[in-house]
Amino acid sequence: MEDIEKAMDALLRASRVVVLTGAGISAESGVPTFRGEDGLWKNYRPEELATPGAFARNPELVWEWYYWRRSIIGKAEPNPGHLALKTLEDRLLDRFFLITQNVDGLHRKAGNERLVEFHGNIWINRCTRCGNERFDDTVKFEGLPTCPGCGSLERPGVVWFGEAIPSGVIRISMERVRSCDVCLVVGTSGVVQPAASLADAAKVSGAFIIEVNPQATPISYTADVSLRGKAGEVLPQLVSQ
Ligand code: NAD
Ligand code: ZN
Repeated sequence: MEDIEKAMDALLRASRVVVLTGAGISAESGVPTFRGEDGLWKNYRPEELATPGAFARNPELVWEWYYWRRSIIGKAEPNPGHLALKTLEDRLLDRFFLITQNVDGLHRKAGNERLVEFHGNIWINRCTRCGNERFDDTVKFEGLPTCPGCGSLERPGVVWFGEAIPSGVIRISMERVRSCDVCLVVGTSGVVQPAASLADAAKVSGAFIIEVNPQATPISYTADVSLRGKAGEVLPQLVSQ
């Protein structure tokens, strides 16, 4: 059997499927990945901007970067990879669960509902003092955003490098990966923890691991099948039956 057939076969037999997605699935929508060539902004690496330390030193710089990312994401539409995962959810309903590391909201825009956004959402502002969260569609820097409740500085509602994932999000994600029989890992470099360890947890629990990524990653070692191609091309094929 060819790898794609093995993967299709595993999906067809699966009773519970968990999909893990990373920046790669949104690349074909025009949203740069962190580790690709367009990931750089004004010569800063994302690891120098997406941290509590960077925000404490220079909140203007960090917010400027987030507005720049929002301006790109705001114009992006779900691509055939996102749409294939919506098809899969429609078919499996409660037997489907999606855990995305992406903050771009494109899975929701594609119509997926059974999901957690592991690293938050770029369109949320969170108050640094009272924790109030609100939706904000600003895409241009016009001064630092402040909390409508208490007037304090707001920060992006995302999880930065060095920060903890909210415990409820971890719990539900671990429950799902431990009880799935197929885990589909799409467009993630597998180097950002603890997101990367979710695939390992699925494997340890006996799940069949399918990787979709044009390049080899640390997850390739755990994967039962690695499909080397773009998410927007491979996923529609994978769910075509
Ligand atoms: P990453 O940037 O580290 O890696 C991206 C991976 O996608 C690579 O392995 C690459 O080979 C693969 N890829 C590239 N094009 C692809 C395609 N067309 N189809 C399938 N795979 C493709 O991304 P990551 O592992 O998700 O980790 C980076 C962190 O940065 C995440 O935690 C995430 O929160 C954040 N991030 C989010 C976005 C977004 O929301 N769209 C964008 C950049 C970074
Ligand atoms: Zn507040």
